[in-house]
Amino acid sequence: MACKERNGTVYEAKSKSFQPSSLTATTWLSLREYRGVPFLHRCFHCYSAVCALVCPVDAHIVTDYGAVVIQQDRCIGCGRCAEVCCYGVPRQGLDRRYKKCDLCLDRIAQGKPPACVEACPVGALKFGKIEDIYKAAREEEAKGRCTYGIELTHWVYVYSDQEAFEAFLGDVARRKDAEKIKNILSFPTKRGAPPPVSYLGIEGAVIALSIAALVAWRQNRIREKKEGGHE
Ligand code: SF4
Ligand code: SF4
Ligand code: SF4
Repeated sequence: MACKERNGTVYEAKSKSFQPSSLTATTWLSLREYRGVPFLHRCFHCYSAVCALVCPVDAHIVTDYGAVVIQQDRCIGCGRCAEVCCYGVPRQGLDRRYKKCDLCLDRIAQGKPPACVEACPVGALKFGKIEDIYKAAREEEAKGRCTYGIELTHWVYVYSDQEAFEAFLGDVARRKDAEKIKNILSFPTKRGAPPPVSYLGIEGAVIALSIAALVAWRQNRIREKKEGGHE
């Protein structure tokens, strides 16, 4: 509901279930339950965002915050990002453009947490710096819990039931046609590779932390690399 309110799809939220189990062009966050354990499905904001790599018109970008964003005014609806996303995230809208979670980029740029994090009634989703996120996740690992996403995605899941998580991942993951992806990857794009685009150019690092899921952005890391002359 908070996600839909923020994204302007309130009407649908009021007329349908507030806990959709599938992503659509107007549902960017869904709730799936396995063995009684709830998991949130949304864009993982991958470190290596292949969706951005294959976009032929620079519509799908990686921001300095690590948020992977589809610029609607540029999207031509080719569907390449959806083809290569192994988490089954981008969905085509009625206007033929593809849509997905943008990590509430406007909110985090203002220093606010994503709407879903703010709205969580039990504090399962939290917000902090990337160092704190990894520290917290590794502390949970030390206690015997499992994590998914450290150094891989900007949402890091922390959970106790490995089987339930594998069921979740197996359900949302899309089988990919290797040959098709090879063809897509060989298709020329405007930039050739996805650089960390300075989308908003705002200073300050705010990272999302969740007990069920952790979300981070990598602005600090990018800045450190730049200062170190590596990027
Ligand atoms: S989950 Fe899919 S759409 Fe999101 S960043 Fe990763 S590859 Fe891209
Ligand atoms: S549908 Fe095509 S143009 Fe639109 S964001 Fe995805 S890859 Fe880019
Ligand atoms: S980060 Fe924002 S857009 Fe993404 S699922 Fe949460 S509320 Fe929706």
